[in-house]
Amino acid sequence: MSGNGFAAVPAKVDVVVVGAGFSGLYLLHRLRGLGFSAVAFDEAADVGGTWYWNRYPGARCDIPTTDYAYSFDPQLEQDWTWSEKYATQPEILAYLRHVAERYDLRRDIRFGVRITAAAWDETARRWRLRTSHGGEVSCRYYVMACGCLSLPKTPDIEGAGRYRGEVYFTAKWPHDQVDFSGKRVAVVGTGSSGIQCIPLIAEQAAALTVFQRTPNFSTPAHNGAPPPDRLARLAADREGYREAARWSRGGVPVEVTDVSGLTAPEELRRQRFEAAWQAGELFAILGVFSDQGFNPVSNEFVAEMIREKIRATVRDTGTADALCPKDYPFGTKRPCLDTSYFETFNLPHVRLVDLRRTPIVTLTEQGIDTAGESLQFDAIVFATGFDAMTGPLVSVDVTGTDGVTLAGKWERGPASYLGLMTTGFPNFFMITGPQSPSVLSNMLVSIEQHVDWIADCLQRLRTEGFERIEPTPLAEAGWVQHNQDCADITLYQRANSWYMGANVPGKPRVFLPYIGGVDAYRKTCDEVAGLGLLGFRLDGPAGSRCNDGVIRRVQPDVTIMLDLMASLPSIETMSAADGRAFLDAIDAVRPPGPEVGEITDGVLPGPAGDLAYRLYRPPSPGPHPLITYFHGGGWVLGSQDSDDPFCRDLCVRTGAVVVSVNYRHAPEDRFPAAVDDAFAAVQWIAANAGRLGGTPGRLSVAGWSAGGNLAAVTCQLARDAGGPDIAGQLLLNPVTDCDLGRPSYSRNGEGFVLTTALMRWFWDYYADEADREAATASPLRGTLAGLPPAVVVTAEFDPLCDEGEAYAEALTAAGVPVRQIRARGHIHTSLTMVDVIISGAPVRAEMAEALSHWWPAPVRG
Ligand code: NAP
Repeated sequence: MSGNGFAAVPAKVDVVVVGAGFSGLYLLHRLRGLGFSAVAFDEAADVGGTWYWNRYPGARCDIPTTDYAYSFDPQLEQDWTWSEKYATQPEILAYLRHVAERYDLRRDIRFGVRITAAAWDETARRWRLRTSHGGEVSCRYYVMACGCLSLPKTPDIEGAGRYRGEVYFTAKWPHDQVDFSGKRVAVVGTGSSGIQCIPLIAEQAAALTVFQRTPNFSTPAHNGAPPPDRLARLAADREGYREAARWSRGGVPVEVTDVSGLTAPEELRRQRFEAAWQAGELFAILGVFSDQGFNPVSNEFVAEMIREKIRATVRDTGTADALCPKDYPFGTKRPCLDTSYFETFNLPHVRLVDLRRTPIVTLTEQGIDTAGESLQFDAIVFATGFDAMTGPLVSVDVTGTDGVTLAGKWERGPASYLGLMTTGFPNFFMITGPQSPSVLSNMLVSIEQHVDWIADCLQRLRTEGFERIEPTPLAEAGWVQHNQDCADITLYQRANSWYMGANVPGKPRVFLPYIGGVDAYRKTCDEVAGLGLLGFRLDGPAGSRCNDGVIRRVQPDVTIMLDLMASLPSIETMSAADGRAFLDAIDAVRPPGPEVGEITDGVLPGPAGDLAYRLYRPPSPGPHPLITYFHGGGWVLGSQDSDDPFCRDLCVRTGAVVVSVNYRHAPEDRFPAAVDDAFAAVQWIAANAGRLGGTPGRLSVAGWSAGGNLAAVTCQLARDAGGPDIAGQLLLNPVTDCDLGRPSYSRNGEGFVLTTALMRWFWDYYADEADREAATASPLRGTLAGLPPAVVVTAEFDPLCDEGEAYAEALTAAGVPVRQIRARGHIHTSLTMVDVIISGAPVRAEMAEALSHWWPAPVRG
């Protein structure tokens, strides 16, 4: 069966695969099917990968077996029956052996052999690999299928090695039965491995001491027979079920909720939590609320309900409290599923040592010394985790082009394209590599997707006459940025987790997996392939080819919003009245924005009647700087409260009183009614600054979109009229010109909410053709010298981007101080969608910081 490490290693193959776990086995099968010669190497004596090594008591999968299995062969699925919802390690290993035998894979695997070094030979366009047996293999393609959690962390505890008793590592558990009967046992570590083995070790040991550095969120697995509902769905439509898994967020088909933890009533919150608790599945508890992954308040509801359960289970209140995680959001460290974990601490011979209170000082010959006591043990079990994701890859001496090593390139964190390849290392592939969904997903779904993509890619290279593939620096930088953008909108970076590399001393803090979802990732990989392998350079006898580019440039939350809005009707197909009603309906369900000190409504005199305003006051004692704000809506839509969340946000971030003024709208009141109203409002607010709680002489104007147009125009009118004095102008995605022919209209004129057609609709309602070129309609055509300093914000995917940029440039050329903020990956509506487009928040922070330079010193400080 095993032990064929000394069987002849072919000197030359098409593909070398490292690892004979789930990934390596399927890859071998696929490659063989495509007629590639391939050999796999594994240090273990048999197949299994992670399931070969992690044999500790209680080791099980924590994705239901209905889903934690290959789906590539329906017959394989029919022939194998899992005995439990979550199978034990021996059963999973038996499955993998069955697969190896069924497809006769062992003949191409060399066991007990490690690849120690790999170097790219540019002349031959091949990898030269060295094995732990001193052999050499040359291959065209080199694939690391070595698992994300396969390099155990070296013990980083003082005195490690001094202890003379029995030592066990969960990640390298002996093959022989370990008997803890009658023994005093210590377990160090309370991650998934510790939480699985602790209850079973407690059943045997005379005394068990658990050393916990960070408490973990764990929920009951409710193990038993495989879930009948999932079995029924599989039986009814196996392929439909698998396809749903492939296009799900985590690789397991689950109900996706739109219930927000922030807005759901308490009863519904509890109901949803209880249902997830009873389901005993990771993706259920991770998906109680739509926003728990990025909204701290929503997340805290789930976290606190789990803590309630822990306190209700563990009788000793001090122990219960120590077992409750409190300093990181739920889900941001890998949550665990357990069987009687918390109950175990009610047993009289089990004790928890909270290392936060009494840290380990050193291991001794007999046991462990903490800051509080000296403890003796017959056996110590280290469940201390792994150098995850990057560790196994950089542990091999991999040298790419120009002598650069992978470890060197990734010194400050991994950089990859799609988590599949990395620039400078041609023909080198990773299965479930960093910056792919991998550990955040059902690994089986992610493994099959990666293997299929790579196998299809190799076949395509062969068919099209290429023999070298490498991602371009541009494509890789774009993917690294997209990964960071995805992580930035979540709470994940708040935890010291192995996802962040934080568990290994000295490892760079970078969020390692791709968190955009299995579905989004699959779509991305498919698109890359469909675009002629976008971002890859291909070389071979057929010549060279490169369709260079970045696959994802729009902010991830903007993409989600665009997908949700795709089915909504376009405003430009409606009447003005219907457009207003449509917008009101959308506004009615948006998050409210932050609390401010006070909100008051009022009216001020306009040239043709009263104008309504809404005033937002900071909670601090005034007077405050004052901002007159004009809402967006193409001079047709909106009112003094239509940008309410944005005005609240502006008030909170700047510490200014914000007065959002309504103005007359087209088509009822066409140009220049809105301009007349806006200027009258600024004059009145300046004259009444003190009464409104503003610092006299510190009035700024601000506006978004058409409101930005009015703000810009108002500044020109105030300058020409000799007052009022305006301290600064904030122009957020402003309309500055009537020319709809600028390149950003063709680049971004469709698909990003504000369309060219909608801008035309707005202009047609607002102003006659003959009036549009006036400076009061197109301020870019006015005289710009002598205007107040400006903050001009443009969004990359806004049709108005170019005219905003043009205005900033023209202001600068006219000697006006300008701070330009370019919102990368954003659209016209991104920044005003407070608490919806999370990635807009840092841009608003930058905007507020820029505005603060206009304020008097106390606020700036
Ligand atoms: P882990 O989650 O990294 O947990 C390691 C534990 O050891 C943590 O509690 C950690 O504390 C502690 N620790 C590490 N170094 C320590 C030190 N020097 N002193 C004291 N405590 C120390 O590792 P794991 O439990 O092996 O799990 C790793 C991952 O493997 C899991 O998250 C999961 O993805 C996978 N896994 C899955 C299953 C399954 O059910 N299918 C089972 C096992 C593992 P800190 O948190 O403070 O660092």
